[in-house]
Amino acid sequence: MKEKSTFYIILIFVLIILSSINIQAVSVHRVKSGENIYQVSQKYGVTPGEIVSLNNLPNPDSIFPKQVLIIPGINQRGAYRVKKGDTLYEISKKIHIPINVLAQTNHLNNNQLYPRQLLYIPIRYRYPLQHQVKAGDTIYKLARKYGIETTEITIFNQLKSTELQPGEILKIPVLIPGDSPGYNGPYYTRDFPDTFFRYGNTNQYKIAITFDDGPDGTYTPWILDILKKYNVPATFFLMGKRIGNYPEIVKRIVNEGHIAASHSWSHPDLTKLSQAELALEIEKTEKTLENITGLKTKLLRPPYGAVSSTLLENMKEINYKVINWTVDSRDWLDRDVDQILINTLPNINKDTIILFHSAGGTNHDLSATAEVLPEIIQTLQMLGYQFVNLDELLGINAYK
Ligand code: ZN
Repeated sequence: MKEKSTFYIILIFVLIILSSINIQAVSVHRVKSGENIYQVSQKYGVTPGEIVSLNNLPNPDSIFPKQVLIIPGINQRGAYRVKKGDTLYEISKKIHIPINVLAQTNHLNNNQLYPRQLLYIPIRYRYPLQHQVKAGDTIYKLARKYGIETTEITIFNQLKSTELQPGEILKIPVLIPGDSPGYNGPYYTRDFPDTFFRYGNTNQYKIAITFDDGPDGTYTPWILDILKKYNVPATFFLMGKRIGNYPEIVKRIVNEGHIAASHSWSHPDLTKLSQAELALEIEKTEKTLENITGLKTKLLRPPYGAVSSTLLENMKEINYKVINWTVDSRDWLDRDVDQILINTLPNINKDTIILFHSAGGTNHDLSATAEVLPEIIQTLQMLGYQFVNLDELLGINAYK
């Protein structure tokens, strides 16, 4: 009897150890002084090259104390670790991503794999769009609409039949319509080059930080304190109806060298408004900002990042610049310092616009946003990035 229970206890331990190895997730490492990349890679059982490529490190021989490194893992959201004997066909079936997509993303030659290799999962598969099936939708039509292959829809959604049910929700592996190479719908950055922006074009290691949904009395001032300490400029896309409650904070934004811009008056999906409603959302916010700061903004971050050709035509007419983002920190959802680091650092490159939030709804805790900023700022500065504001990154004027 006793032997049997000892056996089970050992078995449980072995299972715990095995499962913890298998589910090792992407993680965050903070470099200690004297540490080099080989020591870090050994500690986590990954290769230095994997760390270099995930973190876009320009010089693997120099990492700095306090620098944040994202450590690759077997997290299915970010990467898949190849096991002995795995074939691309089996992996594709297991993680529901077509073979050709995996091969392209990972630059595989002849689909050859080696054990412990990390296969990256394209970010559009990690954060897909959702599409609710309407009557008349077919997989072929959806694939054309979103510029992807039909197999990307069938495999990703594990569809057994080609019949779609109206109302059914499909995961579509595109980030923003217009993002994928084969896309043949509206392609906003191309069609509205002077009006719609998602990234800069300086071709330099410059980054602009943006904060949506403020002002408020808690997080916006906290964030301003941090930006001041590190001498980093940012753009605050403010909600018109919140501005009147915090005029001093709005003045502080401008006085401390940041840009105060429009995030509409009441945060609706602007693509669903009538002309009159849209004009009101834009004008009321612009006027309120002008009364407090003396500046007439012409920058708009549309709520939810939602844009349409009609909206962009309208904004072009009044000489507004519509600014979305390159990298979404997902701060308001994840609310965790390490997860925000994982969401941002590996995706940052030249000319990146990063999206954060400086206010939320009632009782929405955004502490992680404020807490993560010093690490993001310091790590990216160590990598040679310079924080600039949107006007410099995009070569535009922020005000009329
Ligand atoms: Zn918003």
